[in-house]
Amino acid sequence: MKIGFIGLGNMGGPMAANLAKAGHEVTGFDMAEVAIDGVTMAASGTEAAKGADVVITMLPNGQILRAVAGDIIPAMEKGAALVDCSTVDVDSARAVAEQAAEAGLLSVDAPVSGGVGGAAGGTLTFMAGGSAEAFAKAEPLFDIMGQKAVHCGEAGAGQAAKICNNMILGVTMIATCEAFALADKLGLDRQKMFDVVSTSSGYSWTMNAYCPAPGVGPQSPSDNDYKPGFASELMLKDLRLSQQAAESADADTPMGQIATALYEQFVESEDGLGMDFSAMLPRFEKRGRG
Ligand code: NAD
Repeated sequence: MKIGFIGLGNMGGPMAANLAKAGHEVTGFDMAEVAIDGVTMAASGTEAAKGADVVITMLPNGQILRAVAGDIIPAMEKGAALVDCSTVDVDSARAVAEQAAEAGLLSVDAPVSGGVGGAAGGTLTFMAGGSAEAFAKAEPLFDIMGQKAVHCGEAGAGQAAKICNNMILGVTMIATCEAFALADKLGLDRQKMFDVVSTSSGYSWTMNAYCPAPGVGPQSPSDNDYKPGFASELMLKDLRLSQQAAESADADTPMGQIATALYEQFVESEDGLGMDFSAMLPRFEKRGRG
């Protein structure tokens, strides 16, 4: 396939390289000067999109996505597909899908989970929203860049799945960290705490697979001085998107709201910026109730 790829950062770069390695003709564009193995660089997003069967975007946020989509949609050929893999707000995903449909294009919102390691290794999970026809067109590319793609529903459904998942992730990480900090103060050994909770009803992915206590459980960012991993500011971005969606859908999400406020404080007023999101544990350790 002829593929345009716009946004070749930490995630987009290796994803585009994997598509080129699999034999697709990939033309890329990024605002920053980058070179990606096997990818021909274009002078603009429009140039990368022209004549492509599929254009993939991997951009920082919804505002930038809307601007890029506004530029490239008129340059794309009828029947081509616009596949956005960025994590953005549901409203932006739906607005871009509408604009694409008006121009006779197929579109999919397909945010990913799996991080930079998954992007490099081609093991991402895609959660996709769009028509069956659009999903079918993008699916062979998802198979190259990832190991699983779930068609979640119509436009916006992929972003909805992503932010609901990450709201659970933020809330459970905080719950796991505050429980460890309480266990410490109660004099409980951390390994014993892990042994009990990881096989009891308090277990979760944050406890069992990504334990925030160093030296306990499988290897995780806590064992590497809380270097990300998944940075707290990215967790904050996703939690904010969950609250923006909750606001727009009139959904009551008190735990998501508290998690958003805590990560906001951690990133903006404390030392959380650039730290893995599991560094909530040392944060709680330092604090008392006051
Ligand atoms: P990044 O900042 O490394 O990459 C974004 C790229 O977009 C940059 O290279 C930037 O120069 C480029 N860009 C910005 N504006 C542009 C424009 N107008 N035209 C062309 N290029 C432009 O970010 P990333 O880590 O690759 O993340 C990309 C998206 O994936 C984000 O939405 C993020 O939330 C999501 N995501 C990231 C991870 C992760 O672990 N990094 C995991 C899952 C999802």
